[in-house]
Amino acid sequence: MSSFTVINPATAQPVTEVPLATLEEADAAIARAQDAFPAWRSVAPGERARLLRAFAAVVDAHLEELAQLEVRNAGHTIGNARWEAGNVRDCLNYYAAAPERLFGRQIPVAGGIDVTFHEPLGVVGVIVPWNFPMPIAGWGFAPALAAGNCVVLKPAELTPLTAIRLGELAIEAGIPEGVFTVIPGKGSVVGERFVTNPLVRKVCFTGSTEVGKRIMAGCADQVKRVTLELGGKSANIVFADADVAKAAATAPYAVFDNAGQDCCARSRILVERSVYDEFLGGLEKAVTALRVIDPADDASEMGPLISAKQKETVLGYLDGVEAAFTGSAPQAEGFWVPPTVVLTEDTTAPVWREEVFGPVVAVMPFDDEEHAVALANDTEYGLSGSIYTRDLGRALRVARGVESGNLSVNSHSSVRYWTPFGGYKQSGLGRELGPDAPNAFTEEKNVFIAQD
Ligand code: NAD
Repeated sequence: MSSFTVINPATAQPVTEVPLATLEEADAAIARAQDAFPAWRSVAPGERARLLRAFAAVVDAHLEELAQLEVRNAGHTIGNARWEAGNVRDCLNYYAAAPERLFGRQIPVAGGIDVTFHEPLGVVGVIVPWNFPMPIAGWGFAPALAAGNCVVLKPAELTPLTAIRLGELAIEAGIPEGVFTVIPGKGSVVGERFVTNPLVRKVCFTGSTEVGKRIMAGCADQVKRVTLELGGKSANIVFADADVAKAAATAPYAVFDNAGQDCCARSRILVERSVYDEFLGGLEKAVTALRVIDPADDASEMGPLISAKQKETVLGYLDGVEAAFTGSAPQAEGFWVPPTVVLTEDTTAPVWREEVFGPVVAVMPFDDEEHAVALANDTEYGLSGSIYTRDLGRALRVARGVESGNLSVNSHSSVRYWTPFGGYKQSGLGRELGPDAPNAFTEEKNVFIAQD
């Protein structure tokens, strides 16, 4: 068995070694999950709800430990990491209500009654990226478990530590062995096996568009269910009638949070030409004031990138590109890149078109509402976005016009577990979270009972 050295991104120092599962070990874990399935699906709804609430309570009791672990493993600011651990707890509590409310329908038909059932799929494979190891894991496993499935979860190679701990906490909370298993391993080994092993009935994947396409193609072979949450290149559209000062002051948080390694990052800012200079003045003030410091410090607003490789990729986008202004970053070991603002009117520029996945934002002026919507939609992605305007009608028109799964008006709302989340176009397939998420982990069965 090989292993992976986990590195602290803020210091570039090793944290620990994590064994990587082999193909045989992945198969064995999947088989154990399959063995655990008949008993788990038969647990009475109220009891499954109680177990999920117990799991949430144990996560809550370990919130600070999980948060500190994420700071060391992923370089997240401690404030964000606490929110992320709390999000796992909240997701578990929210979906703990689902087993008792997994309603079917009674449909009027002639000659008897017709009822539908939401039945669990069996074993669900959840594949998680490194940018939000805890929340993205929870968005998959909480509704999947609630719907009566067993879950095998593969964290990203770079960030396995909190997922491994969550697997242990599930057992501590009384979730039966085999119902929720965390298998650290390579994407090309364990991740691929989720796709090819027929015992896995659904793959819930979050990651790059490139790997997502490959997974979708692989799942086609067995008509395996698949949910994809992929990349983004979201627009933050600022109209002249907006509170421009507020739009400028908040824009950095919408793109530089998690050092820009966020699929929802508003990495393209579109500003109506008449307030372009005013906006840039406010943006510069906000960017230079951003506290890019040790993520373990309570005051930290932005930490390092995840890895040396990611830093190299991000810097590659800045090669030969003139930055309008930048914020600060520690001159330290570790994978630091300062928040960087680029101005462009070239819609073919890589920094405008491609998902940089780092603290780089491109700003472009626009002329009118139609132009803004056209520019926002001129991308293969469609995950998120923001609209700043005081005109309610315009807010509505633009929100309906932008081809994107998650838009916020006069705010940069992050993902909320109460509401559906997912992408248009190449940002994904299917939706996670919200009240309907457990249904995505079920088959709808229709039963007709004759009355004569
Ligand atoms: P990635 O696609 O390289 O890896 C994601 C996960 O897939 C990892 O666990 C990896 O081990 C696994 N994997 C890699 N190759 C695989 C294969 N052939 N078969 C099965 N699994 C495989 O992505 P990443 O670099 O870890 O994450 C960054 C990307 O994730 C960005 O593009 C970002 O936009 C996207 N993302 C999307 C969302 C969303 O909800 N839409 C959320 C977070 C991140």
